[in-house]
Amino acid sequence: MKVGILGGGITGIAIQHFLRHPSEVLEAETTPGGLCRTFFKDGFGYDIGGHILFSKHEIINQLVEKLLGENINHCKRNNKIYYNGRFVKYPFENGIGALDKHEAYDCLIDYLKNDFAKPTNLKEWCYYTFGKSIAEKYLIPYNDKIWNLSSEQLSLEWVDRIPKPPVDDVVKSAMGIETEGYLHQLFFKYPKIGGMEALVRCLIKQESNVTCNFRVKSIRRMKHEWAVSDGQTTKHYDKIIVAFPIHEAIHCFENIPSTVKSAVENLRYNTINIAMLGVNNESLLDKSAIYIPDRDVVTHRICYMGYFSKQLIKPGTSSLIAEITTNPGDTIHELSNASMIEKVANDLDRINLIQKQDIIVSDITRMKYGYPVYDLNYTKNTKIFKEYFSSIDVTLCGRFAEFDYINSDECLRRAMVLSTHWNESLQT
Ligand SMILES: Cc1cc2nc3c(=O)[nH]c(=O)nc-3n(C[C@H](O)[C@H](O)[C@H](O)COP(=O)(O)OP(=O)(O)OC[C@H]3O[C@@H](n4cnc5c(N)ncnc54)[C@H](O)[C@@H]3O)c2cc1C
Repeated sequence: MKVGILGGGITGIAIQHFLRHPSEVLEAETTPGGLCRTFFKDGFGYDIGGHILFSKHEIINQLVEKLLGENINHCKRNNKIYYNGRFVKYPFENGIGALDKHEAYDCLIDYLKNDFAKPTNLKEWCYYTFGKSIAEKYLIPYNDKIWNLSSEQLSLEWVDRIPKPPVDDVVKSAMGIETEGYLHQLFFKYPKIGGMEALVRCLIKQESNVTCNFRVKSIRRMKHEWAVSDGQTTKHYDKIIVAFPIHEAIHCFENIPSTVKSAVENLRYNTINIAMLGVNNESLLDKSAIYIPDRDVVTHRICYMGYFSKQLIKPGTSSLIAEITTNPGDTIHELSNASMIEKVANDLDRINLIQKQDIIVSDITRMKYGYPVYDLNYTKNTKIFKEYFSSIDVTLCGRFAEFDYINSDECLRRAMVLSTHWNESLQT
């Protein structure tokens, strides 16, 4: 039995790693890795947004340790929120002691005396869970930026990813007593050499069969097999797994019912644009990430790459990456690469997070599929396409194939579960 794994992001590569049946990964780009790739320019390395390795599944933590071996840095988070010209500890509710006393009081009292009704969308959830002040100062403006959509139009499906703070923590933090929130990612791992992509490379074995530069254009069901083509070459498999974005995949199949097509087309996603700026000094080394709710600043988050690994910068220098989510038609989306870099640099200079004249290198990478957006029709639309693909015996796996807001650890876990199931249940 031969399996075609369509898409060579970390999910597709991991499926092949675990699968004991003969398989081939077909990847559209020149290198595998998808969103887990690392780019280098003039000695400065950067990922597609701040990538850190952590998991609530011990089996995945162990797997990552085993794969990376000696090539691993153990790091402690030092994230901040840049709010009104000052650094507030992340998450915001654990840092309100850094605000001026009136603002800290407002945050605390609104958190404690909170009679908002049960929420039906993300905006209401922010008020309901954190109270008016924390919601309005940080959570709502930040979420509006990262999702590129008003939080009123976002559903509650993914909010279990946001831990709710214990009352104790909020009271302590308002009084200036140190607390830590989001404990599940307080400590994380990161490759010493090679950036996030190093993890993908570890998954590729000598005997792995990965074909790059193969952009799947058609997938046809023959009598006993699947024919997969890039328009020039056709390959045949007994079974296929779709591990590339469903918005692309839907156009590769014949006779897709119009309800399924429109369910997929109505699923909203954001493009992620990553601007990297390298500077001629070591000023950008001491923090892992800075969250920026300010609506007048184009980026919602910056990360200092040298904090994760010194191999990503050169001696005496440092760098940051700025994340910007956009959609076609947005003024920012339509900017040229040079103009987008200029905009990021100007904004960060204006709020004193960099000095523009220190910049010695810049680069930009845009990924069309960055974030699946959980709008109010998300559940209805995902159910329609998932049921359909299951009915035609096509397995979907991964962030954009399943259209699920998951991190690489969950991609690894799902790849492992799927492969183990196939290893046990399918005859070779
Ligand atoms: C800004 C940002 C920050 C993140 N931070 C973290 C983090 O801190 N920790 C973490 O663990 N995860 C993080 N993630 C999530 C992580 O990057 C993803 O969950 C993971 O990379 C998804 O892998 P995937 O293989 O499912 O999908 P993708 O990486 O999207 O891979 C899909 C692959 O399919 C290929 N493809 C597309 N079309 C075709 C075609 N027609 N034919 C063949 N191949 C095709 C693509 O080139 C790509 O290689 C972050 C993501 C973003 C955007």
